[in-house]
Amino acid sequence: MGGPPDITTTLSAWAPPLLTLAAALIALALMLRFAVPRGRSRPLRLKVLLRALLPARIIRSASGRADIAWFLFGMFFSASALGWALWSGEWFAGHMLHGLHIAFGSPAPIAAPAWVASTVMTLALFLAYEFAYWLNHSLSHRVGWMWEFHKVHHTAESLTPLTNFRVHPVDTILFFNMAAASAGIAMALVHFAFGRAGGGFLIHGTNALTFLATIIFSYLQHSHLWISLPGRAGRWLLSPAHHQIHHSVEERHHDRNFGSTLAIFDRLFGTLHLPTAKREKLRFGVDGIAYDPHGPIGAVLMPFADARRRIASDFDATKKGGPSPDRPLQSLRENA
Ligand SMILES: [Zn+2]
Ligand SMILES: [Zn+2]
Repeated sequence: MGGPPDITTTLSAWAPPLLTLAAALIALALMLRFAVPRGRSRPLRLKVLLRALLPARIIRSASGRADIAWFLFGMFFSASALGWALWSGEWFAGHMLHGLHIAFGSPAPIAAPAWVASTVMTLALFLAYEFAYWLNHSLSHRVGWMWEFHKVHHTAESLTPLTNFRVHPVDTILFFNMAAASAGIAMALVHFAFGRAGGGFLIHGTNALTFLATIIFSYLQHSHLWISLPGRAGRWLLSPAHHQIHHSVEERHHDRNFGSTLAIFDRLFGTLHLPTAKREKLRFGVDGIAYDPHGPIGAVLMPFADARRRIASDFDATKKGGPSPDRPLQSLRENA
């Protein structure tokens, strides 16, 4: 526990990409160790695990090569990612706390030991992060110009842990600011209730629960392996199979499973789609793009032109008073 440098810090922000890959390998090794029946399990070798996570046929494809490029981009730029939150969580928390004091005065804080306040703060910041993830992701699919940047992630035609890094910088900036706002609000509410500042329990400067959730779940979220949590468990936690469904081009899978680790916000807002235990045959990608989505121009520059076009067509439609013919919602969200 201690004063955090930045409450919006998340593991995906500071972890070097190589650590991401290592964590995905460890998570896979653990899953295979415990999921495969004793008699059928074989000794786990690094080469075998690497091949399982990054099959040559995927790595050699245009989509796989683009993921490698994003991974390398992440290796050089992930260290600066924290600066991408234009307003910090503390900035939001300070203003929110000020507003709470104006609205409700300064009532006596809840009398509780320090560890209780820290536990509540840890839980609140974890839930705030999960909610911000769900909200940002959901908006990225529903708001036309945001989709144009987020679709870069969905143009991946195969999923490996490297696909974690296939995120347009504008998409990243939007997420960090939304996460900062959400964390700031949660921090101010807990601070107001308990009369204590601080960021809760931390591991490596990251919220302890977010750290554990990221290590155990998020790094393996993108995987071509069908690692599924069906049934009751799948209504609480999102497995890699949940996220494969999110990437599926099938219309019935559109706008489903927006969350990070917890399935609760998808459940609350009616966007949860449970995977089956047995592998579902899915196709990934975005259909109908007129340029190469894997090259640097298509992946980095074209989204700006597409977003500009989208804003212009939405503005025209608003002026005419009718729905934009060019909206991405459902049918126009070419796929993902
Ligand atoms: Zn998405
Ligand atoms: Zn994804």
